Amino acid sequence: MNIKVTNPYLKLSEEFYNLETTQPLKNAYLIDLNLELSEEIGLNSLSDSDFLKLTNGEFLLDGAKPFASVYAGHQFGHFVPQLGDGRAINIGTIDGWHLQLKGSGITKYSRDGDGRAVLRSSIREYLVSEAMHGLGIDTTRAISIVGSKHRVYRGEWESGAVVLRASKSWIRVGTFEYFYHKGMYKELAKLIEYTILESYSHLSNREDKIALFFQELVAKSAMLVASWQAVGFNHGVLNTDNFSIAGLSIDYGPFAFFDDYNRNYICNYTDRGGRYSFKNQPNIFKWNLSALALTLSKFVDISILKEIIEEFDTIYLDRYLDLISKKLGLEHREKDDYSLIEELLSLMETLEIDYTLFFRTLSYYNKDQEPLLKLALYHNPLKDWLNRYSKRLELNSRDTKSDMLQINPKYVLKNYMLQDAIDLAQRGDFSLVKDLLKIAKNPYIEHEKLDRYSKSTPQEYKNRKLSCSS
Ligand code: AMP
Ligand code: MG
Repeated sequence: MNIKVTNPYLKLSEEFYNLETTQPLKNAYLIDLNLELSEEIGLNSLSDSDFLKLTNGEFLLDGAKPFASVYAGHQFGHFVPQLGDGRAINIGTIDGWHLQLKGSGITKYSRDGDGRAVLRSSIREYLVSEAMHGLGIDTTRAISIVGSKHRVYRGEWESGAVVLRASKSWIRVGTFEYFYHKGMYKELAKLIEYTILESYSHLSNREDKIALFFQELVAKSAMLVASWQAVGFNHGVLNTDNFSIAGLSIDYGPFAFFDDYNRNYICNYTDRGGRYSFKNQPNIFKWNLSALALTLSKFVDISILKEIIEEFDTIYLDRYLDLISKKLGLEHREKDDYSLIEELLSLMETLEIDYTLFFRTLSYYNKDQEPLLKLALYHNPLKDWLNRYSKRLELNSRDTKSDMLQINPKYVLKNYMLQDAIDLAQRGDFSLVKDLLKIAKNPYIEHEKLDRYSKSTPQEYKNRKLSCSS
């Protein structure tokens, strides 16, 4: 098992991290292994039993020096000066992939927490990060998951689990905030340097690299949230400590993919005010980027940073309209498309239409309105819209069905599906975890055995809320 890892983050000074010891779960077993990713990272020489030990923190790869990193963060708008990896332990870097165990015991930054993650939230994270990747959305990844008989208390006794995660960056806006708000500007400068080398290395020789890095992150973030809005994904806890400095979807908690379309949807039960509601996500992205801008203002004129943030709206809207136009199979954009899209979205809301199923069904549309009308509570308003849409399609020079099938997924991992997999897993059956991983990785193709999950969500499970507790 001669796999060597490095620890680039530890080249930063000790203010950035704390060395830790992983604390394996009792009676752990391997639930699943993401073979493709483990191969991509170069871990394929490990056996299943090696993966079990690696994921459970029972053995370390050659050269690993486990550590937890410190960060701060605005949680629901309130600044918390010190957070950090309270239940994540970093276990080395291979080829730019930073490996991290989530749920492997307490660290210096655990505060009152137990450093653990439970089976249900670990299954959710394991599957959704691969689902995002399968949908073509930038995200942190998951390599493997172990379960255990280790008891963890979350209002009731549950079992502990660990996910081995991998990402090209684990740095958050909150990492910058930690040093800025402590007045540790020398360390902040080092962090900026490190971040640019890690995630924006093409800028490293540029004189104005800090402003350019920020500008790229603003653009990447605007594109990222546009893809969330287009696929119908609600993150749920967009605190600045859950906001990637590399433009990745990160830290999945009470997330949801839409059942029926509802722009006011709030997947997070504890988010009473709707700060992180579906429709507010682009605003919150901008808010988080402003929090980052403040930390960079030590190094770049604030007026320049403000100008860069102002680019966000245009990039976001342009990307969003581009994606929705593609979902509608429109070859190019026309002036009236905005109102065509707006009208459709309002209809989907009032007619309680399943978001994913509608676009997938629309991909097969050939003037027969029946399959689409069947998805709506009332038919007439949708008929009118489809007539308008049919006219609009005449401006296309070719059939766009095959393009539509590549942007309108047949499957997204709705919460009721994840709950099915969790219920089975809690009885010791992991088959659905494995099956859902298959559709997560390839959401645009048919999976006959799982066809039931391409239908609209059973009424009693629609648009439920989830708690943060994980
Ligand atoms: P999250 O809501 O998962 O993004 O977590 C917010 C902060 O709380 C992070 O600093 C986490 O590391 C920490 N945290 C969450 N759950 C636990 C836990 N069970 N034990 C220790 N720290 C935790
Ligand atoms: Mg977090």
